[in-house]
Amino acid sequence: MKTLAIPSPAKINLFLKVVGRRPDGYHEIITLISRIRLFDTVVLAFDQPSTSVKCSHPGVPEDRSNLAYRAASLFFDTLSIHDGVAISIDKVIPVASGLGGGSSNAAAVLMGLNRHYGLPSSDGELMEIALKVGADVPFFLFGHVAVARGIGNDLEVCEDLPPLSVVLVCPRFEVHTAWVYENLNLGLTNSDKNFKMRSLKQDFSRVKHFLFNDLEQVTIGKFPEIKTIKNALLDLGAEAALMSGSGPSVFGLFKDAQQATKAIHSIISLRRRARWDTFLVELLLP
Ligand code: ATP
Repeated sequence: MKTLAIPSPAKINLFLKVVGRRPDGYHEIITLISRIRLFDTVVLAFDQPSTSVKCSHPGVPEDRSNLAYRAASLFFDTLSIHDGVAISIDKVIPVASGLGGGSSNAAAVLMGLNRHYGLPSSDGELMEIALKVGADVPFFLFGHVAVARGIGNDLEVCEDLPPLSVVLVCPRFEVHTAWVYENLNLGLTNSDKNFKMRSLKQDFSRVKHFLFNDLEQVTIGKFPEIKTIKNALLDLGAEAALMSGSGPSVFGLFKDAQQATKAIHSIISLRRRARWDTFLVELLLP
């Protein structure tokens, strides 16, 4: 049986601004988004009579609602391939935590299937299938740090991010993205549609003036522990700290790996009181 193991990275949003709500209910955003070196592993066993999915995390569905399953089934339908694939996901990325794990798994399946069947789908066609699975899926096919606009799918390369050491703190509760957007008070967001992404170049000091997330107001309103984590990271020397996506994960940016390592040791000792998962990672730059 032919199999393929594909690393499936998480993402963080270094900037997320909600600029409006479309008539169909989707929100338009501008976000600066980067993959990070925190990976699930997606293993595909090809040429099966039907498609199936298994996941090591008990909270992740193993039916058609799994984003990886949806990606496979859309790929086969779009290309009229009458085949199945057995998908097995080793979950490391915390679930429903603002790190895009499900979307990343879906992108990994699309890349793996396209490779196995000899690239029948062009990059553009694969992006279209990805968007049907979810607004964040095209980003994971893109392969660059990106400024994403629209519902998150209109992608522009951002080449100027410096390599950063990231301490990621994930409290062990889930936040559902739909709930966050439903509770967002658009009147409170400053809808600057002409916002231009400033170049960061190698000037790390600018990052801290730049980080922003409109969704924090909603998620922190319900889960003040997120603010506690932000403050802990800043107290431990982070240049800046921000909630990723709709939360609840928070990341702190550090000047170098040494400072980040010190901070993570302190956070791990704090964790005896509060139940947080912690990771020391780097941005995944091309
Ligand atoms: P979002 O893209 O909504 O911001 P997130 O990064 O916060 O997502 P995910 O880990 O992708 O969170 O999970 C969001 C929801 O999708 C969860 O309720 C989860 O059960 C469901 N889900 C479906 N498929 C997957 C998958 N392959 N991995 C993780 N979650 C999945």
